[in-house]
Order: sequence, then structure tokens, then C-alpha cells
Amino acid sequence: MYENNLDFAQLEDQNDDLRKFRERFHIPTRSNGEEHIYMCGNSLGLQPKACKEYLNQELEDWKNYGVEGHFKAKHPWMPYHEFLTEAMAKVVGAKSHEVVVMNTLTVNLHLMMVSFYRPTIKRHKILIEYDAFPSDKYAVSSQLRYHGYDPKDSMIELKARENEHCLRHEDILKTIGEQGDEIALVMIGNTNYYTGQFFNMKSITQKAHEKGCLVGFDCAHGAGNVDLDLHNSGIDFAVWCSYKYLNSGPGSLGGCFVHERHANSNDIPRFEGWWGHNKETRFAMRDGFEPIYGVEAWQLSNPPILSMAAIMSSIDIFAEAGIKNLRKKSVRLTAYLEYLLNEIIDERLEIITPSNPEERGSQLSLKIKTIGKQVYDLIAEKGVIADWREPDVIRVAPTALYNSYEDVYKLAAIIKMELQKIS
Ligand SMILES: *Cc1c(COP(=O)(O)O)cnc(C)c1O
Repeated sequence: MYENNLDFAQLEDQNDDLRKFRERFHIPTRSNGEEHIYMCGNSLGLQPKACKEYLNQELEDWKNYGVEGHFKAKHPWMPYHEFLTEAMAKVVGAKSHEVVVMNTLTVNLHLMMVSFYRPTIKRHKILIEYDAFPSDKYAVSSQLRYHGYDPKDSMIELKARENEHCLRHEDILKTIGEQGDEIALVMIGNTNYYTGQFFNMKSITQKAHEKGCLVGFDCAHGAGNVDLDLHNSGIDFAVWCSYKYLNSGPGSLGGCFVHERHANSNDIPRFEGWWGHNKETRFAMRDGFEPIYGVEAWQLSNPPILSMAAIMSSIDIFAEAGIKNLRKKSVRLTAYLEYLLNEIIDERLEIITPSNPEERGSQLSLKIKTIGKQVYDLIAEKGVIADWREPDVIRVAPTALYNSYEDVYKLAAIIKMELQKIS
């Protein structure tokens, strides 16, 4: 099905309907003028070439209109976030009143926990993965402490079995089954940043809902990578950032999903601000908060237009390419990388990401014992931009939008060459 040679990789590229999208991005180049092999789209996505134009448009409109740009700009600033909603909703598989671009990820996670972590004496625990992204753990433990609980007792951490790296789905369901009566919130990274494991949100949610828990997922590594299908998964909320697979620039605004079953519930506590207020009367500046229907009610401030312009430059490309098409390519591209790595694997190298495509996105995490950092440094010298995680993991993420089969072939060839040098 695959072949370990450059001709095969190039033929795959020729047959790839999505190959033209690579040209829409700036690929970083080395000092010798050659392109880097960029495998870090899971950390910071590349810049769309059109991004500058989108930003310039807003700078021009600000220059020419001043405050009147709120209404007169080409894309008026007043409703600007709405221009992103439909395309973003498609990327994450949601209805448009379930999705809004606002704030940044950890901020949104806190705002969501204000609303969806509502502990009672009997039910006050939060379930999270043991190796969750640090910020998520800080957010969860500080929420617990804020409510007067000790994370040592109230944070349940899902751990992989001994000598395994990934969580078993059955173990997650078992924990929820056994401890669900005490769990107020299940909050899991839907694609684990470290192992690349992608969880089945639907069955976890079903089980958690049966036990009366609320469910949120951090989709930082899922958005723009896998087909999230948020609405049908039934989860209560999700948060994600836009600077990883969504290519919207460092620190750019995040996205937030609240399921429509909560769209009109006024009994949910919420931190409120003027941007969440009914748009018709927002400027009346009166007392009394009238929430917008849906997730927009959680908005606090008028958002930074320049960040949203960058998001628009990228999300427009996703709308064109289609997340289902991207996912299809990603499955094949990642499997090709796995095939090539399996050809060179020896006792020093292990792929800790699940081999089942249903349980992973674009990322493969390579565990390389003792010589991991050495290999990472050597492949970096050869032009590979990957990601090093202590103590011994190199994460590589061939993205469907701008990585080619040739990139993947070259990456594996470089790893092979450098491993041989060390032996
Ligand atoms: C990238 C990432 C973050 C980063 O949070 P910010 O608030 O955007 O800095 C948090 N959680 C996860 C799971 C991530 O992958």
C-alpha cells in the first residue's frame, strides 16, 4: 500500500487534491534557502500568505475611519466575530449559535468552569487525565481550591496502565461508572497534547451524562486536526485555541462551544460583560443583563480585531478545503509516516501514539530512550522543525493543509540517517 521511496511520496503528492493549499502558506526557510521540514503545526501553525492583507485591511480601515470603522470598515468591527462563526462551526462540527471566537483558551476554560463546574457536597470532583496539558491542570486545581476543595481529594486523574502510555477507553468509562456519582465535571483534552491520543467524546459523554456529570473537552489539539463533530458528541462545552492547527498566529483568540441545550438556560451562573448582552440594546447602557441566545452570551469584551483578521485569513482556507477532506488526507499522511518509521524502528525508538487512526490525529509522538535529545538536535540541524518534550519524546505532526508526502518521506529518511550515526 505504501512504498519507502521518494518517487512514491512524490506520486502521492501529485494525486493529492489538497496539495495546492501548501502554496497558500509561508513555509519557513533555512539560511541556505531550503525549506524547513515543518512538523510543528500542532504547536504553532504556519502563516497564511493572505494574513498580511487581512491585517492591512483593518489597519487601513482604522486609519481612514477611526471609530466609524465599527460600522464603515469593509468588515465592520461591531459584528466582526460573527464573520468567523460559520466557518469555525464547520471546522468543529457545531451549529452556529454553539460557537464563538473569544478570549484565549485558558481564560475560556475558567469561564466555562464558572458555568459548568457547580459542585455540591456529594458531587464535587473533576475528572481529568493525569498527563493533561499543565495549564488545564492549573485551571482545574485552582477552580477546585476556589470552591474550597483540595485537589488531592477532588481531582481524579486518569492514568495509563503500568508500562502503557495511552489511556484505555474502557478504563475511562470504568472510572466514570465507579466514581461518577461524585464527579461534577469530566474535563479531558480531546486529543492529548503529549501522546496524540484522540478520545471518543461521544461514548465518554454518554457514560458521564448517565451518571449525572457535566462534560467539557479541551480541543486545543483537535480543532483543525480531527473531525470533532462537537454537536453530535453531546458534550456540554469545549474550548480550543486557534494558533495550533488553525494557523491564526501566536496567542491568537480561542474558540468556545456551548451545546444548544444550554443556549437559553438562565439558571446557569455565568460571568457577564457587555459583549454578551442583547445586541439591539447593548449601547443603551442600562441596568439588567439580557443574554444573547447561545454561546455569544458568554462574551465579555469587544474583541481584538487584528487577531480576528488573522483567524479569518486561515479559517477561510479551512472553509475552502473542508475539514472532512483534510481529515481524510491526514489519516493517510500520518499512516505513511508511521509506515516509514516502522521500517526503521529498533529498540531505541517507540511510537507511543495509538496506531488506530480513529484514536489519533496528525501527530505521532516518538519516544526515544536516552538519546532522544541528541536525535532531536541532529534532525533539527538537518532542517526539521519538530517539538521536544522532556524527558524523551519528539512530537511530529504532518498537517494536511501544508505538509506533503515528500516532507514525510524526508523526515523519516533524516531520522533514519541520524539514528544510524549514533549506533
Ligand atoms: C496549547 C494548549 C493550551 C494553551 O493555553 P493558552 O491559554 O492558549 O495559552 C492549553 N491547553 C491545551 C490542552 C493545549 O494544547
